[in-house]
Amino acid sequence: MTEDRDLQQRAFRERFFDLSLDMLCVAGLDGYFKLVNRAWETTLGFSVEEMLARPFLDFIHPDDIEATNAAYALQIEQGRDIVEFENRYLCKDGSYKWLLWNAKTAAEEALIYAVARDITSVKQAEKLMEEKALELERSNAELEDFTHVVSHDLKEPLRGIEAFSGFLAEDYADKLDDRGRGYLTVLQDSAVRLRDLIDDLLQLSRIGRIKPQYVRVSSASLVADVISNVEFSLKEKNTELRVAADLPILVCDPVRIQQVFENLISNALKYSDKAAQVVEVGCVQEPHRHIFFVRDNGPGIDPKYQEKIFRIFQRLVLREEHEGTGVGLTICKKVVEGHGGEIWVESEGSGLGSTFFFSIPKSIEPSQVSKEEQNGTGPQGSSHPARGRQPTGRGDHAAGAGKGPGEEPAHSGARRPGGA
Ligand code: ADP
Repeated sequence: MTEDRDLQQRAFRERFFDLSLDMLCVAGLDGYFKLVNRAWETTLGFSVEEMLARPFLDFIHPDDIEATNAAYALQIEQGRDIVEFENRYLCKDGSYKWLLWNAKTAAEEALIYAVARDITSVKQAEKLMEEKALELERSNAELEDFTHVVSHDLKEPLRGIEAFSGFLAEDYADKLDDRGRGYLTVLQDSAVRLRDLIDDLLQLSRIGRIKPQYVRVSSASLVADVISNVEFSLKEKNTELRVAADLPILVCDPVRIQQVFENLISNALKYSDKAAQVVEVGCVQEPHRHIFFVRDNGPGIDPKYQEKIFRIFQRLVLREEHEGTGVGLTICKKVVEGHGGEIWVESEGSGLGSTFFFSIPKSIEPSQVSKEEQNGTGPQGSSHPARGRQPTGRGDHAAGAGKGPGEEPAHSGARRPGGA
């Protein structure tokens, strides 16, 4: 009776053993497989007999033998289970497959029981993703370098255009008729617009090129600095600015985050269309992130454009209505995502105001600043506001804003003909 039951149970186990899609095996401490299921043949192509005839190390990729031996030694000497160990196994056609292993030693039987899963496709996908990420990083860096160089080089001829149109306006205005003076005004306006675009593109490329310097800083002080930069617009637009009293201390690159606050607050002021404009700045706490917001009661943004506005050069207004380049929110997105956060806008729609949110993770650690960087002799200069970098309010020409680190001051660079 008992014998029958044992036989029945054995047949039962063997059926499952051969049905398994994963590779099951029993190996001896002599380095040979004693039992392998059918999945081995389906996966690697060797018959059961071929698998049992050679030491299992024969099947392992030469580069993985050392790690396999080390895991094997730990298992034999210390009785440790092998959990999620990976190595490559030879196939009958000469190729290799990645296997993921779990194994347990039964010392009393001098046997190792193991299960392996073919993870080749996962590994290939991982490798492909890594390669794509590297490629993307490389092409982004190239694009940033290209943007930087081109923008920089464009400044030189632009200076000439600005300077000579200025000389024309000063010295020859009375010699031109109305149409000529009209052309000159268009020329000067175009030069200003070109400068705004170049400055914004330079800022955008700089974010990727300059390593962020994370320091602990009070967000209230960043907002206070922004307010002093936009004070004129606040009065001009008759805006009530409400800043929450509980803005937190956070770890971030302060110059960059101040830039985000400045862009969002400047936009709230610029696009305001109410006689009594109200702008609120606050922060909501979540366990792992700070979520800052800038809310206005302005025109609002149609839900169908709420993603589009973060893309470069995308504007929902005509330039005749509001000056701008369509780069500000792209800069904000790049800065926030560079901090590992997210940025988005919520608005019920036309006329109902907008709330821009951005999150900053609480897990950011302050940067280790090298001695060179502390002395300001590093190759990329500093990004700490205390070391003289200007906050960057785009479009605020009076404040000299838009000048980032390492950028030369704007000057005409052109001499007035005749040495004047
Ligand atoms: P810019 O202000 O130079 O046009 P941005 O990237 O800062 O560029 O903004 C993109 C567009 O998003 C703006 O042109 C405007 O149409 C819209 N926008 C931004 N902020 C607001 C806001 N607070 N209220 C309404 N529309 C806004």
